[in-house]
Amino acid sequence: MLSSNHPSLRSWIHTEPTGDFPIQNLPFGIARHHDEVAAYSAIGQFGINLHKLMGMGYFEGIDLPWGVFAQDNLNWFIEQGKGTWRAVRNRLSDILRIDTMQSLKGDHSARQKVLIPLNELQMLLPVYVRDYTDFYSSEEHATNVGTMFRGKENALMPNWKHLPVGYHGRASSIVVSGTPIRRPHGQKSTPEGEVVFGPSNLLDFELEMAFIVGKSTRMGQQVSVAEADDHTFGMVIFNDWSARDIQAWEYVPLGPFLGKNFGSSMSPWVVTMDALKPFRVQGPVQNPPVLPYLQFEGARNYDIELEVKIVPPSGQGMVVCRSNHKHLYWNMAQQLAHHTVNGCNVAVGDLMASGTISGPEKGSFGSMLEITWRGANPVKMPDGTERKFIQDHDRVIMRASCVKDGVRIGFGEVSGEVLPA
Ligand code: CA
Repeated sequence: MLSSNHPSLRSWIHTEPTGDFPIQNLPFGIARHHDEVAAYSAIGQFGINLHKLMGMGYFEGIDLPWGVFAQDNLNWFIEQGKGTWRAVRNRLSDILRIDTMQSLKGDHSARQKVLIPLNELQMLLPVYVRDYTDFYSSEEHATNVGTMFRGKENALMPNWKHLPVGYHGRASSIVVSGTPIRRPHGQKSTPEGEVVFGPSNLLDFELEMAFIVGKSTRMGQQVSVAEADDHTFGMVIFNDWSARDIQAWEYVPLGPFLGKNFGSSMSPWVVTMDALKPFRVQGPVQNPPVLPYLQFEGARNYDIELEVKIVPPSGQGMVVCRSNHKHLYWNMAQQLAHHTVNGCNVAVGDLMASGTISGPEKGSFGSMLEITWRGANPVKMPDGTERKFIQDHDRVIMRASCVKDGVRIGFGEVSGEVLPA
Protein backbone atom coordinates (compact mmCIF):
# COMPACT_ATOMS: atom_id res chain seq x y z
CA MET A 1 0.00 0.00 0.00
CA LEU A 2 1.18 3.54 -0.75
CA SER A 3 2.02 5.28 2.53
CA SER A 4 0.00 8.32 1.37
CA ASN A 5 -3.13 6.11 1.20
CA HIS A 6 -2.97 4.76 4.74
CA PRO A 7 -6.40 5.09 6.44
CA SER A 8 -4.79 6.07 9.75
CA LEU A 9 -3.18 9.22 8.30
CA ARG A 10 -4.41 12.48 9.81
CA SER A 11 -3.60 16.05 8.85
CA TRP A 12 -2.92 19.14 10.94
CA ILE A 13 -5.48 20.82 8.67
CA HIS A 14 -9.03 20.09 9.81
CA THR A 15 -10.95 17.72 7.54
CA GLU A 16 -14.54 16.54 8.04
CA PRO A 17 -15.21 12.79 7.72
CA THR A 18 -17.97 13.68 5.25
CA GLY A 19 -15.73 15.99 3.19
CA ASP A 20 -14.26 15.27 -0.22
CA PHE A 21 -10.64 16.09 0.48
CA PRO A 22 -9.01 14.16 3.31
CA ILE A 23 -5.23 13.77 3.39
CA GLN A 24 -5.64 10.45 1.52
CA ASN A 25 -7.04 12.27 -1.55
CA LEU A 26 -4.79 15.20 -2.56
CA PRO A 27 -6.23 15.77 -6.05
CA PHE A 28 -4.84 18.16 -8.66
CA GLY A 29 -6.58 21.11 -10.29
CA ILE A 30 -6.08 24.55 -11.82
CA ALA A 31 -7.50 27.66 -10.18
CA ARG A 32 -7.47 31.42 -10.36
CA HIS A 33 -6.99 33.39 -7.15
CA HIS A 34 -7.25 37.14 -7.68
CA ASP A 35 -5.33 37.45 -10.96
CA GLU A 36 -3.01 34.51 -10.56
CA VAL A 37 -3.56 31.14 -12.18
CA ALA A 38 -1.73 28.13 -10.76
CA ALA A 39 -1.95 24.42 -10.09
CA TYR A 40 -3.49 23.48 -6.76
CA SER A 41 -4.12 20.49 -4.60
CA ALA A 42 -6.88 20.41 -1.98
CA ILE A 43 -7.27 19.36 1.62
CA GLY A 44 -10.28 20.01 3.85
CA GLN A 45 -11.59 23.47 3.00
CA PHE A 46 -8.31 24.68 1.49
CA GLY A 47 -6.60 24.75 -1.86
CA ILE A 48 -2.81 24.42 -1.80
CA ASN A 49 -0.94 26.61 -4.26
CA LEU A 50 1.66 24.22 -5.68
CA HIS A 51 3.67 26.90 -7.47
CA LYS A 52 4.19 28.84 -4.26
CA LEU A 53 4.96 25.65 -2.38
CA MET A 54 7.60 24.82 -4.97
CA GLY A 55 9.03 28.34 -4.70
CA MET A 56 9.54 27.77 -0.98
CA GLY A 57 11.57 24.65 -1.71
CA TYR A 58 9.08 22.05 -0.52
CA PHE A 59 9.49 19.88 -3.61
CA GLU A 60 13.27 19.72 -3.33
CA GLY A 61 14.63 16.41 -4.55
CA ILE A 62 11.76 15.89 -7.00
CA ASP A 63 12.71 16.41 -10.62
CA LEU A 64 10.27 19.20 -11.59
CA PRO A 65 10.91 21.97 -14.15
CA TRP A 66 10.53 25.46 -12.71
CA GLY A 67 7.15 26.93 -13.63
CA VAL A 68 5.47 23.57 -14.08
CA PHE A 69 2.76 24.61 -11.59
CA ALA A 70 2.43 28.19 -12.91
CA GLN A 71 0.42 27.01 -15.93
CA ASP A 72 -3.23 27.22 -16.89
CA ASN A 73 -3.38 23.44 -17.28
CA LEU A 74 -1.79 20.35 -15.74
CA ASN A 75 -0.45 18.90 -18.99
CA TRP A 76 3.20 19.81 -18.45
CA PHE A 77 3.09 18.36 -14.96
CA ILE A 78 1.40 15.20 -16.22
CA GLU A 79 4.10 14.84 -18.90
CA GLN A 80 6.66 14.41 -16.11
CA GLY A 81 5.37 10.86 -15.65
CA LYS A 82 3.84 8.64 -13.03
CA GLY A 83 6.94 8.62 -10.79
CA THR A 84 6.75 12.40 -10.48
CA TRP A 85 2.96 12.55 -9.85
CA ARG A 86 3.46 10.00 -7.11
CA ALA A 87 6.45 11.80 -5.61
CA VAL A 88 4.57 15.12 -5.49
CA ARG A 89 1.48 13.59 -3.90
CA ASN A 90 3.62 11.69 -1.39
CA ARG A 91 5.49 14.90 -0.54
CA LEU A 92 2.20 16.77 -0.04
CA SER A 93 1.07 13.99 2.27
CA ASP A 94 4.33 14.31 4.16
CA ILE A 95 3.97 18.10 4.52
CA LEU A 96 0.34 17.88 5.65
CA ARG A 97 0.38 14.92 8.05
CA ILE A 98 -0.12 15.70 11.69
CA ASP A 99 3.28 14.33 12.75
CA THR A 100 5.12 16.10 9.91
CA MET A 101 8.80 16.98 10.12
CA GLN A 102 8.32 19.62 7.40
CA SER A 103 8.16 23.27 8.43
CA LEU A 104 4.90 24.45 6.79
CA LYS A 105 2.80 23.41 9.77
CA GLY A 106 4.64 25.82 12.06
CA ASP A 107 5.30 28.60 9.54
CA HIS A 108 2.33 30.93 9.82
CA SER A 109 3.35 33.36 7.08
CA ALA A 110 4.09 30.56 4.58
CA ARG A 111 0.73 29.00 5.35
CA GLN A 112 -1.02 32.29 4.62
CA LYS A 113 0.56 32.36 1.16
CA VAL A 114 0.07 28.72 0.25
CA LEU A 115 -3.30 27.74 1.75
CA ILE A 116 -6.26 29.46 0.12
CA PRO A 117 -9.87 28.79 1.20
CA LEU A 118 -11.57 26.79 -1.53
CA ASN A 119 -14.43 29.30 -1.73
CA GLU A 120 -11.92 31.97 -2.84
CA LEU A 121 -10.68 29.88 -5.76
CA GLN A 122 -12.18 30.04 -9.21
CA MET A 123 -11.68 26.56 -10.57
CA LEU A 124 -10.67 26.25 -14.22
CA LEU A 125 -10.50 23.36 -16.65
CA PRO A 126 -7.68 21.23 -15.17
CA VAL A 127 -6.21 19.93 -18.42
CA TYR A 128 -5.90 21.00 -22.00
CA VAL A 129 -7.96 18.31 -23.74
CA ARG A 130 -6.73 17.84 -27.28
CA ASP A 131 -8.87 14.80 -27.99
CA TYR A 132 -11.94 13.36 -26.36
CA THR A 133 -13.24 9.82 -26.78
CA ASP A 134 -16.53 8.59 -25.38
CA PHE A 135 -17.09 4.92 -24.68
CA TYR A 136 -20.35 3.05 -24.15
CA SER A 137 -19.20 0.65 -21.47
CA SER A 138 -22.21 0.13 -19.21
CA GLU A 139 -24.11 -3.01 -20.16
CA GLU A 140 -27.18 -1.76 -18.31
CA HIS A 141 -27.18 1.55 -20.21
CA ALA A 142 -26.56 -0.08 -23.58
CA THR A 143 -29.30 -2.63 -22.85
CA ASN A 144 -31.81 0.02 -21.73
CA VAL A 145 -31.20 2.21 -24.78
CA GLY A 146 -31.09 -0.78 -27.12
CA THR A 147 -34.37 -2.09 -25.70
CA MET A 148 -36.07 1.27 -26.27
CA PHE A 149 -34.89 1.59 -29.85
CA ARG A 150 -34.73 -2.02 -31.08
CA GLY A 151 -36.66 -4.16 -28.61
CA LYS A 152 -35.42 -6.50 -25.87
CA GLU A 153 -34.24 -9.26 -28.22
CA ASN A 154 -31.84 -7.02 -30.14
CA ALA A 155 -30.86 -4.67 -27.33
CA LEU A 156 -27.12 -5.35 -27.43
CA MET A 157 -25.41 -5.28 -30.83
CA PRO A 158 -23.36 -8.42 -31.72
CA ASN A 159 -20.05 -6.58 -31.17
CA TRP A 160 -20.87 -5.17 -27.74
CA LYS A 161 -19.38 -7.92 -25.55
CA HIS A 162 -16.31 -8.29 -27.78
CA LEU A 163 -14.99 -4.74 -27.74
CA PRO A 164 -15.49 -1.53 -25.79
CA VAL A 165 -17.66 0.43 -28.23
CA GLY A 166 -16.75 4.11 -28.50
CA TYR A 167 -16.71 7.16 -30.75
CA HIS A 168 -14.56 10.25 -31.13
CA GLY A 169 -16.19 13.19 -29.40
CA ARG A 170 -15.49 16.90 -29.58
CA ALA A 171 -12.88 18.39 -27.24
CA SER A 172 -13.55 22.06 -28.02
CA SER A 173 -16.84 22.19 -26.10
CA ILE A 174 -15.65 20.54 -22.87
CA VAL A 175 -16.16 23.03 -20.05
CA VAL A 176 -15.47 23.12 -16.34
CA SER A 177 -18.18 22.63 -13.73
CA GLY A 178 -20.34 25.72 -13.21
CA THR A 179 -20.33 26.77 -16.85
CA PRO A 180 -23.93 27.22 -18.08
CA ILE A 181 -25.03 25.08 -21.01
CA ARG A 182 -27.15 26.67 -23.73
CA ARG A 183 -30.01 24.48 -25.02
CA PRO A 184 -29.02 23.64 -28.59
CA HIS A 185 -30.96 24.21 -31.79
CA GLY A 186 -31.03 21.50 -34.38
CA GLN A 187 -32.80 19.36 -36.94
CA LYS A 188 -35.36 16.90 -35.71
CA SER A 189 -37.86 14.49 -37.15
CA THR A 190 -41.40 14.58 -35.76
CA PRO A 191 -43.30 11.33 -35.00
CA GLU A 192 -45.26 12.08 -38.21
CA GLY A 193 -42.01 12.05 -40.17
CA GLU A 194 -41.77 15.79 -40.78
CA VAL A 195 -38.29 17.34 -40.67
CA VAL A 196 -38.24 20.47 -38.52
CA PHE A 197 -35.69 22.89 -37.02
CA GLY A 198 -35.78 24.32 -33.51
CA PRO A 199 -34.58 24.08 -29.93
CA SER A 200 -34.02 20.59 -28.60
CA ASN A 201 -37.02 19.47 -26.55
CA LEU A 202 -35.32 16.35 -25.20
CA LEU A 203 -32.25 17.73 -23.45
CA ASP A 204 -30.60 15.12 -21.25
CA PHE A 205 -27.58 14.55 -19.03
CA GLU A 206 -25.32 11.51 -19.11
CA LEU A 207 -23.74 10.41 -15.83
CA GLU A 208 -20.18 9.48 -16.72
CA MET A 209 -16.68 9.44 -15.34
CA ALA A 210 -13.63 10.10 -17.46
CA PHE A 211 -9.95 9.33 -17.16
CA ILE A 212 -7.12 11.57 -18.29
CA VAL A 213 -4.33 10.08 -20.36
CA GLY A 214 -1.02 10.45 -18.53
CA LYS A 215 1.50 9.44 -21.17
CA SER A 216 1.66 10.24 -24.86
CA THR A 217 2.20 7.52 -27.44
CA ARG A 218 3.48 7.70 -31.00
CA MET A 219 1.56 6.47 -34.01
CA GLY A 220 1.85 2.72 -34.27
CA GLN A 221 2.44 2.20 -30.56
CA GLN A 222 0.07 -0.03 -28.62
CA VAL A 223 -0.63 0.31 -24.89
CA SER A 224 -1.31 -3.10 -23.39
CA VAL A 225 -3.80 -3.67 -20.59
CA ALA A 226 -0.84 -4.27 -18.25
CA GLU A 227 0.81 -0.97 -19.25
CA ALA A 228 -2.37 1.07 -18.93
CA ASP A 229 -1.70 2.11 -15.31
CA ASP A 230 1.40 4.04 -16.32
CA HIS A 231 -0.66 5.85 -18.96
CA THR A 232 -3.52 6.95 -16.72
CA PHE A 233 -3.21 10.10 -14.61
CA GLY A 234 -6.54 10.39 -12.83
CA MET A 235 -10.29 10.70 -13.05
CA VAL A 236 -13.04 13.33 -13.09
CA ILE A 237 -16.85 13.33 -13.08
CA PHE A 238 -18.22 13.99 -16.53
CA ASN A 239 -21.66 15.12 -17.71
CA ASP A 240 -21.95 14.37 -21.42
CA TRP A 241 -25.00 16.55 -22.19
CA SER A 242 -27.12 15.05 -24.95
CA ALA A 243 -29.99 16.31 -27.12
CA ARG A 244 -31.98 13.13 -27.69
CA ASP A 245 -34.22 14.45 -30.47
CA ILE A 246 -31.27 15.79 -32.50
CA GLN A 247 -29.32 12.61 -31.79
CA ALA A 248 -32.13 10.26 -32.84
CA TRP A 249 -32.49 11.89 -36.26
CA GLU A 250 -28.81 12.46 -37.13
CA TYR A 251 -26.98 9.40 -35.82
CA VAL A 252 -27.58 7.03 -38.74
CA PRO A 253 -25.20 5.70 -40.06
CA LEU A 254 -22.12 7.47 -38.65
CA GLY A 255 -23.04 7.97 -35.01
CA PRO A 256 -23.24 10.86 -32.54
CA PHE A 257 -22.68 14.40 -33.84
CA LEU A 258 -24.51 17.67 -33.05
CA GLY A 259 -26.73 16.04 -30.43
CA LYS A 260 -23.59 15.50 -28.36
CA ASN A 261 -20.99 18.17 -29.10
CA PHE A 262 -22.71 21.35 -27.85
CA GLY A 263 -21.25 20.93 -24.37
CA SER A 264 -19.77 18.42 -21.93
CA SER A 265 -19.01 19.37 -18.32
CA MET A 266 -16.17 18.06 -16.18
CA SER A 267 -15.40 18.37 -12.48
CA PRO A 268 -12.36 20.56 -11.70
CA TRP A 269 -10.39 18.27 -9.36
CA VAL A 270 -8.54 15.33 -10.89
CA VAL A 271 -8.38 12.48 -8.38
CA THR A 272 -5.24 10.46 -9.07
CA MET A 273 -5.25 6.75 -9.82
CA ASP A 274 -2.89 6.41 -6.83
CA ALA A 275 -5.54 7.83 -4.49
CA LEU A 276 -8.17 5.52 -6.02
CA LYS A 277 -6.11 2.36 -5.67
CA PRO A 278 -7.70 1.20 -2.37
CA PHE A 279 -11.12 1.29 -4.02
CA ARG A 280 -10.41 -1.24 -6.76
CA VAL A 281 -12.98 -4.04 -7.05
CA GLN A 282 -13.78 -6.83 -9.44
CA GLY A 283 -16.05 -5.88 -12.33
CA PRO A 284 -18.78 -7.96 -13.93
CA VAL A 285 -17.72 -11.34 -15.33
CA GLN A 286 -17.02 -10.96 -19.04
CA ASN A 287 -18.73 -13.68 -20.98
CA PRO A 288 -18.00 -14.60 -23.76
CA PRO A 289 -14.27 -14.44 -22.96
CA VAL A 290 -12.56 -11.47 -24.56
CA LEU A 291 -9.70 -11.64 -27.06
CA PRO A 292 -6.19 -11.91 -25.56
CA TYR A 293 -5.34 -8.21 -26.04
CA LEU A 294 -8.29 -7.31 -23.78
CA GLN A 295 -7.62 -9.86 -21.05
CA PHE A 296 -6.54 -8.49 -17.69
CA GLU A 297 -5.56 -9.62 -14.22
CA GLY A 298 -6.78 -8.50 -10.83
CA ALA A 299 -9.48 -6.06 -9.81
CA ARG A 300 -9.74 -3.31 -12.42
CA ASN A 301 -13.07 -1.67 -11.59
CA TYR A 302 -13.54 1.05 -8.97
CA ASP A 303 -16.11 1.29 -6.21
CA ILE A 304 -17.13 4.91 -6.77
CA GLU A 305 -20.61 5.93 -5.67
CA LEU A 306 -22.32 8.34 -8.03
CA GLU A 307 -25.40 10.51 -7.77
CA VAL A 308 -27.28 12.95 -9.96
CA LYS A 309 -29.42 15.74 -8.58
CA ILE A 310 -31.75 18.04 -10.51
CA VAL A 311 -32.33 21.45 -8.95
CA PRO A 312 -35.20 23.34 -10.65
CA PRO A 313 -35.51 27.15 -10.47
CA SER A 314 -37.68 26.75 -7.33
CA GLY A 315 -34.60 25.43 -5.55
CA GLN A 316 -36.38 22.25 -4.45
CA GLY A 317 -34.08 19.67 -5.96
CA MET A 318 -33.99 15.92 -5.76
CA VAL A 319 -31.61 13.08 -6.44
CA VAL A 320 -32.83 11.21 -9.52
CA CYS A 321 -30.06 8.62 -9.79
CA ARG A 322 -27.63 6.72 -7.57
CA SER A 323 -25.23 4.51 -9.45
CA ASN A 324 -21.69 3.16 -9.13
CA HIS A 325 -18.64 3.09 -11.38
CA LYS A 326 -18.10 -0.59 -10.49
CA HIS A 327 -21.02 -1.60 -12.72
CA LEU A 328 -19.03 -0.85 -15.89
CA TYR A 329 -18.59 -3.94 -18.05
CA TRP A 330 -15.40 -2.65 -19.70
CA ASN A 331 -12.68 -1.21 -17.49
CA MET A 332 -10.39 1.72 -18.28
CA ALA A 333 -7.33 -0.46 -18.97
CA GLN A 334 -9.32 -2.34 -21.61
CA GLN A 335 -10.59 0.92 -23.09
CA LEU A 336 -7.06 2.29 -23.48
CA ALA A 337 -5.70 -1.01 -24.83
CA HIS A 338 -8.50 -1.17 -27.37
CA HIS A 339 -8.11 2.50 -28.33
CA THR A 340 -4.43 2.03 -29.16
CA VAL A 341 -4.48 -1.53 -30.53
CA ASN A 342 -4.63 -0.18 -34.09
CA GLY A 343 -1.72 2.18 -33.45
CA CYS A 344 -3.84 5.28 -32.80
CA ASN A 345 -1.66 7.74 -30.89
CA VAL A 346 -2.96 9.36 -27.71
CA ALA A 347 -1.61 12.42 -25.90
CA VAL A 348 -1.26 13.63 -22.34
CA GLY A 349 -4.53 15.34 -21.41
CA ASP A 350 -6.72 13.31 -23.75
CA LEU A 351 -10.03 12.57 -22.09
CA MET A 352 -11.63 9.12 -22.22
CA ALA A 353 -15.18 9.02 -20.90
CA SER A 354 -16.90 5.87 -19.71
CA GLY A 355 -20.27 6.32 -21.34
CA THR A 356 -23.39 6.63 -19.21
CA ILE A 357 -23.02 4.58 -16.03
CA SER A 358 -26.34 2.90 -15.27
CA GLY A 359 -26.79 0.31 -12.56
CA PRO A 360 -28.98 -2.79 -12.69
CA GLU A 361 -32.02 -1.48 -10.83
CA LYS A 362 -34.44 1.40 -11.23
CA GLY A 363 -33.11 4.44 -9.46
CA SER A 364 -29.61 3.75 -10.76
CA PHE A 365 -30.14 4.79 -14.38
CA GLY A 366 -27.70 7.49 -15.51
CA SER A 367 -29.82 9.49 -17.98
CA MET A 368 -33.35 10.92 -18.15
CA LEU A 369 -33.86 8.84 -21.30
CA GLU A 370 -33.70 5.74 -19.10
CA ILE A 371 -35.12 7.19 -15.85
CA THR A 372 -38.36 8.31 -17.55
CA TRP A 373 -38.16 5.61 -20.23
CA ARG A 374 -38.19 8.15 -23.09
CA GLY A 375 -40.66 10.36 -21.23
CA ALA A 376 -43.25 7.64 -20.54
CA ASN A 377 -42.76 7.84 -16.74
CA PRO A 378 -42.06 11.46 -15.77
CA VAL A 379 -40.24 12.23 -12.54
CA LYS A 380 -42.26 14.14 -9.95
CA MET A 381 -40.19 16.93 -8.39
CA PRO A 382 -40.65 18.14 -4.76
CA ASP A 383 -42.05 21.47 -6.05
CA GLY A 384 -44.88 19.67 -7.86
CA THR A 385 -43.47 20.04 -11.38
CA GLU A 386 -42.67 17.06 -13.60
CA ARG A 387 -39.57 16.22 -15.61
CA LYS A 388 -39.39 14.06 -18.71
CA PHE A 389 -36.12 15.70 -19.69
CA ILE A 390 -34.17 18.75 -18.47
CA GLN A 391 -35.94 22.12 -18.56
CA ASP A 392 -34.53 25.63 -18.88
CA HIS A 393 -32.83 26.92 -15.72
CA ASP A 394 -32.65 23.45 -14.20
CA ARG A 395 -29.28 22.75 -12.66
CA VAL A 396 -27.87 19.24 -12.91
CA ILE A 397 -25.36 18.35 -10.21
CA MET A 398 -23.34 15.13 -10.19
CA ARG A 399 -21.24 13.93 -7.29
CA ALA A 400 -18.86 11.00 -6.85
CA SER A 401 -17.12 9.53 -3.83
CA CYS A 402 -15.49 6.37 -2.51
CA VAL A 403 -15.68 5.12 1.07
CA LYS A 404 -13.55 2.40 2.68
CA ASP A 405 -11.93 1.80 6.08
CA GLY A 406 -13.29 5.10 7.40
CA VAL A 407 -11.75 7.10 4.56
CA ARG A 408 -14.00 9.01 2.19
CA ILE A 409 -12.47 10.35 -1.00
CA GLY A 410 -14.63 12.74 -3.01
CA PHE A 411 -14.41 14.18 -6.48
CA GLY A 412 -16.30 17.36 -5.61
CA GLU A 413 -19.04 17.94 -8.14
CA VAL A 414 -19.83 18.80 -11.71
CA SER A 415 -22.77 21.13 -12.12
CA GLY A 416 -24.32 23.05 -14.97
CA GLU A 417 -27.44 25.15 -15.49
CA VAL A 418 -29.36 24.85 -18.73
CA LEU A 419 -30.06 28.21 -20.37
CA PRO A 420 -32.87 28.79 -22.88
CA ALA A 421 -32.06 28.18 -26.54
CA1 CA B 1 -21.84 9.79 -23.61
